[in-house]
This record gives sequence, structure tokens and C-alpha cells, in this order.
Amino acid sequence: MGLGSLQHDGFMTTRLDKVINWARKNSLWPMPMGISCCAIEMMATAGPRFDISRFGSEVMRFTPRQCDVMIVAGTVTYKMAKVVRKIYDQMPEPKWVISMGACASSGGMFRSYPVVQGIDLFMPVDVFVAGCPPRPENLLRALLELQKKIEKERTIGKLVHGERIHIPETGATEGASTSA
Ligand code: SF4
Repeated sequence: MGLGSLQHDGFMTTRLDKVINWARKNSLWPMPMGISCCAIEMMATAGPRFDISRFGSEVMRFTPRQCDVMIVAGTVTYKMAKVVRKIYDQMPEPKWVISMGACASSGGMFRSYPVVQGIDLFMPVDVFVAGCPPRPENLLRALLELQKKIEKERTIGKLVHGERIHIPETGATEGASTSA
């Protein structure tokens, strides 16, 4: 019995999607892209006070091929943008991105010529986190928002219907925002 035979069985595909999404959302392994000061707050989320492991995301590894979610924390310059994008490309799908802080999300407080005015200009972003810097609770809130988004994703349904799982090149701005 292949996936094709499940095509007309909405119940089965929905249940499988729920199991896959449940496993994915509770084991998001971050790729910590700590570029400047926001990174300190990101590090704090892994400490005992905020304890990101409550949400299954304590496995921060600097190996993109073992990561699910990139957390871009800090100012991204045009020079650095190529590096960030390359690391993002090395992550296996499915993958998600959290843009942490005013600098990553919008270029920061002031228009500075070497700074990219929002990382969504060169990579898709799922959740934006406001603040300068955002507190660790804000990052945890973003993680919860991402989990909610993953809950609604269709994986088996897409495979059964032969749809391609599309990752846009640039400009994806869907997703929730959190405030400082
Ligand atoms: S948003 Fe604020 S804390 Fe974060 S990198 Fe920019 S200046 Fe630093």
C-alpha cells in the first residue's frame, strides 16, 4: 500500500500529518546565528532561568545540517548576509527562521548603509521578534508561535497530491510577530 492509496482517505493523511507535526514542533533544533548583542539574550534562553529545553529546543548546534530552525539574532550587514544565506541553504528541509530583534527584522533603529534592512530581503522568515534587545521570554514566545504554525502544516497531504514543498527565495513575510 503506497501513499497513493491514501489519496482518498482524508482521515489517515490528517492523522499522519498530526503525528509528524507533533514530533517536529517539539524537537526544533536551533541553528544559533548570534551576530551581535541580541545573541546574549538568545544564550540566556538556554540557561536554567528560562530553560528552552522545556520546549524541546535545547539542542543548539553549529552544524546547519542537523538544525531545523535558524535564529538570526543581531545586526546583519550586507557582507554577512551571504554567509547567513549560505548556512540557511545548508540546513535540510523542512526548516524555519526566527528573526530576533530590531536589527535582524528591520535593520535597527537607524538607517546605516552597511546594514541589511530586514533579513526577509534575502531569506524567508517565519516569525519576527520585536525589541532591542528582545527578552528571552520573547524568543520563547516566538518559538511557541512557530510551533503553532508547524501544527497546521501538511506534509503527507502534499506528498499524496504530488505538490512540491516550496521554499521561497526571498521576501516571505508570513507568520506571527511578537512584541517587546
Ligand atoms: S536589536 Fe538591539 S540588542 Fe539586538 S542586535 Fe540590534 S542593537 Fe543589538
